[in-house]
Parts: sequence; C-alpha cells; structure tokens
Amino acid sequence: MKNVHWQRFFEQIAIMFGREPKKPTVITERAQQVHELKRMANKVEVRAAILAAHEKPHGHTWRNRRWAVLIFVNLFFAVSFGFDIQILEGALTASRLIGFHLIDLNAALQVMLAHKHIIVNLVIGTSTVMVIWILLGGRTFCSWVCPYHLVAEWAENLHLWMASKKLVSDQHMSRGLRTWFWVIFALAALATGYTVFESISPTGILSRALIYGPGLALLWVLALLLFEVAISRRAWCRYACPIGLTYGVVGIVSPVRIKYTLDGCFHEGDCKKVCLVPHVLETVIKGRAVDTEVSLGPDCTRCGLCVDTCPTGSLKFDIKGLSKLL
Ligand code: SF4
Ligand code: SF4
Repeated sequence: MKNVHWQRFFEQIAIMFGREPKKPTVITERAQQVHELKRMANKVEVRAAILAAHEKPHGHTWRNRRWAVLIFVNLFFAVSFGFDIQILEGALTASRLIGFHLIDLNAALQVMLAHKHIIVNLVIGTSTVMVIWILLGGRTFCSWVCPYHLVAEWAENLHLWMASKKLVSDQHMSRGLRTWFWVIFALAALATGYTVFESISPTGILSRALIYGPGLALLWVLALLLFEVAISRRAWCRYACPIGLTYGVVGIVSPVRIKYTLDGCFHEGDCKKVCLVPHVLETVIKGRAVDTEVSLGPDCTRCGLCVDTCPTGSLKFDIKGLSKLL
C-alpha cells in the first residue's frame, strides 16, 4: 500500500512540472471496493442526492478568510511604510520584519543567479522564508499573500461571467510552459546580470505600487489581466509565473494539504470548475482515487475554493500528523 502513495507522490511532482495526469495503475484494495460499490449504486438515487445537495448555495468561508489575510499582509507593508512604523520594511520581494530579513524565494534565486555568488544576507532571509512556507504549504503564498492572485481572481470571475454569456472562451495552453519560463528567467538572470523577471513580475509590481504609489509598470499588470479576461483564464498563474513553481517545489514536503475523502464524493466535479489548478483534482474523477483518503499534490495553492464548494465535505484542509490529534 505504501507503494501506491509513493507512486502518487512522485506523479504529483511530475504533474506540477507539466505532465498531464494519467489514470492510476495501482489502487489500494479498500479504494477498489469503494469504487465498485459506487459503480453498483442506483443512478437515479445518486442523481437525486446530487440535486438535493446542491439546493443550498455554498458558503465562502475559506475565500473570505483568505482575502482578509491577503489584504491585511499587503496593507501592513503599505501602512508600515506610510507611517514609518519600521516593524515591516520593504516590499513582498524583500523585506525586514522586526529586523529579520525576509526575501521571496524566487527573487533571492534570481539575485544570486544574476550576481553569480551566494549572498549571506540573502541565505539568512531565504532560509527563514523557506521554513515558513514549508510549514504553511508552499503555494499557500500564491493564494494567501500574492496581490496579483487577488486581482486575477476578480478578473477570473469576469472571464467566467463573459464565458457564460458566450462572449469569450478559455484558450488552454500547455502547463509545461511554466517550467520553461522558470528556466528562461533563471538563464536570463545568469546571462544578463539583472533580475529580469523581477521587472515584469506582477507580484512585485503590485506590491511596490501599493507601498510606494502607482507607476507605469501597472499598465503591464493591466494588460495581463485583460489577456486573462478575454483570452485565457488565469493565464499568468497557470502557464507563466515562476514564483508559483518555486513555491510548489517548497510545498512538496509541506504538512498543510487539502485532503480528499472518496466515500461521500459525487464525482460531479464542482471542485474542478472553481480550481486554478484543476489537474490536482484529477483524483475526484470516478475510479481515479488511489486510496479512500488522498492528499492533493504540491501544485495546489491551498486557496480553499474547493473546500467551500464541495457539497459533501469530501475536501478539507488537513495538517499531516496534527489533524488526528485535533
Ligand atoms: S485544489 Fe482546492 S485548495 Fe487547491 S488550488 Fe484547487 S481549489 Fe484551491
Ligand atoms: S470532491 Fe469535488 S466532485 Fe466530489 S463531491 Fe466534492 S465538489 Fe463534487
């Protein structure tokens, strides 16, 4: 049974780098029994249960909590600078919290590649940040802290509304593009000696604009948002942003996960429709779960949208080793 989980663990890493999910070849016996019971279930009864479960509109508990945290963190930077409080100095890319250096992992990597040597202050700042994000869950940074995530989420709602009116359609691209962008930006820093990505990163641009005031670079962010509304849903985060991949790698060993429980799942896929990275939810497709309980892969941003949306409570936040004690 351990093999099933190890196989899934490595598979989820490959999926994060761009591989498309495949039907699992090994499934635990207990999961096979549940899949079989579901195949034998009366279809009319199942459909009635799905309709009944969907009668009540779902809440937005996790989304609201997340938005509150994201806005608080970003405003804290702005307020600290505006009132010269000196508790938190700098911007998201590089800051000092009560004297401690905190540096965005991707930015630190870019700087070291550009300078072609290991900078001690950066290593100290990066280690602190790395430990924080390993504990909190890698891409948690994306959905709970990154200011671009929030505006892109609003743009996504506009895209979905326009798509429902058949005004736009979502153009899919290869997810492997993000890995290529990661390599290209790393090589660009190495070759030019400049942190090329930082000058076009909407995360950094928005963070600096909030703290020091708007600049022309915001036009680039606006162009990205327009592209996402009119052409490709969440294109920057899905297909381009190297920050997401860096934090995804950090989250591989994180204890904070979304846990999927097979038993009560209807397999109607509501969770996949709201998810920024629906490939991590392949396990909800009928017959795909390799065990009765599985953790979602490291590309999950722990945004909680699926947790809010699931009508059966089959998706929940989980802290490995702690949840059973709580
Ligand atoms: S799986 Fe759920 S928590 Fe993870 S990114 Fe998708 S919607 Fe958010
Ligand atoms: S886990 Fe997804 S597919 Fe299963 S019931 Fe919940 S929303 Fe539906």
